[in-house]
Amino acid sequence: MTVQTAPTPHPVQTVRHPAPRSARTQPALPAPQARTAGYGFTTQQVHAGADAGAAGHGDRVAPIHVSAGFRFEDSATAAARFSGEDDGFVYSRIANPTTAALERRLAALEGGAEALVVGSGQAAITTALLGLLQHGDHVLASDHLYEGSRGLLAENFARFGISVDFVTDHADPQAWRRLLRPTTRVLFAESLSNPRNEVLDTAAVAAVAHDHGVPLVVDNTLATPYLLRPLEHGADVVVHSASKFLSGHGTALGGVVVVGRGFDWGAHDDDGAPLFAQLAEPSAVLGGRSWLDLHGERAYAEHARHHVAARFGPVLSPFNAFLVQQGVETLSLRMAQHCRSAALLAAWLERQPAVLRVDHASLASSPSHLRARRYLPRGSGAVVAVTLRGGAPAARRFIEALQLFSHMTHLGDVRSLVVHPASTTHAHRTDAERERAGVHPGTVRLSVGIEDVEDLQADLRRALVAAELVTAHADSLEGQLQGGAA
Ligand SMILES: *Cc1c(COP(=O)(O)O)cnc(C)c1O
Repeated sequence: MTVQTAPTPHPVQTVRHPAPRSARTQPALPAPQARTAGYGFTTQQVHAGADAGAAGHGDRVAPIHVSAGFRFEDSATAAARFSGEDDGFVYSRIANPTTAALERRLAALEGGAEALVVGSGQAAITTALLGLLQHGDHVLASDHLYEGSRGLLAENFARFGISVDFVTDHADPQAWRRLLRPTTRVLFAESLSNPRNEVLDTAAVAAVAHDHGVPLVVDNTLATPYLLRPLEHGADVVVHSASKFLSGHGTALGGVVVVGRGFDWGAHDDDGAPLFAQLAEPSAVLGGRSWLDLHGERAYAEHARHHVAARFGPVLSPFNAFLVQQGVETLSLRMAQHCRSAALLAAWLERQPAVLRVDHASLASSPSHLRARRYLPRGSGAVVAVTLRGGAPAARRFIEALQLFSHMTHLGDVRSLVVHPASTTHAHRTDAERERAGVHPGTVRLSVGIEDVEDLQADLRRALVAAELVTAHADSLEGQLQGGAA
């Protein structure tokens, strides 16, 4: 277990507070974040943002508040909550005590100022980007993206008049710089890409974004904040599919937008026009003030919550927030085991004759190996892309021969999972696009679970034997067709 070196810890104050004696003493405002900032990651994943006793019963675990809305004490409070002067709870589409507890914890784990949880990873990406973009704007994104994100940008956002360019050589900061336009409002990339495990040079790409006055949004789903905290390397906003490693149990979908500190949301272009007019211009719902006037450096986060998420409506149910929270409390322990097993299996798979290539950043053969040593010292993640020599028939046979690995399109579960991207997630792409994404006919994506690694290895060995039989059969057929000996 890696323990962070930490300054002298502060007491976890909210843990030591006695619970209020009756529900009537319950505070109207969301509880302040537990002061766990000086503690290591594993301590924070079980304590940060905890609000023991706030519900009046001394609950040690954040309870599930399944109330659609919240009573106002009087008319003045109602008006103040709507105007934004009082940040108490109003309606669960905007905030809820259970989702707020998860938000405090995830903000702490990512080292962010605040967080907004939503119904899925896709909802998190959509919310984070719609908070920055309007018709006519341009997005610059890495070519190595989750297929759902790529489609969202290339197809859905395009219909709103938002254009996108994909940077093919994401490791070269100049490649990003060359594609910037005056209308570029955000750079978007995955810290560890799905499925090929390309590691982003977060600091270099953040510098390109900041020179242009715009933020870098990073999808940190595959790395998780245990392996990497992109905000510490210059990213401005982090998004996650909480459905994956953050939960780990594979029971709930969820997403989160974590907002960092220090970005200038009030920046202007050379002509003096605000880069983010939606934050700078007077807003009717704020009584003619702007989000920047009212919230300063919190303008983006407040606007994303009250104007984007609340309007488009991708709510995370309190029940799912509770499930994600249960997962987060064991994140570091799971990730350590996931990464250890994935690295062992990746190295072993690379030596197997049936295997053409393995994409995992722990391997010296990975183009991301050096960046992984810099950005991922605790491990290179649990997704392993394995390309079989026998192409699609071998991949099919391999997947069907696996017994412990579940055949499904999901990742980050405690159980090991496998999928064939070329015929599922990437089926609608052209061959050239698939090649660029590292998805070959023989590629299978493994999400290595926390089972005993010997058992996983035995399962993979059995499946490789099955795949090799298909390959040998195909080779010999080909040989016969060509009239030669195979
Ligand atoms: C799964 C995934 C998403 C989408 O998340 P959902 O919770 O399924 O909506 C986004 N980004 C990455 C990297 C993912 O793996």
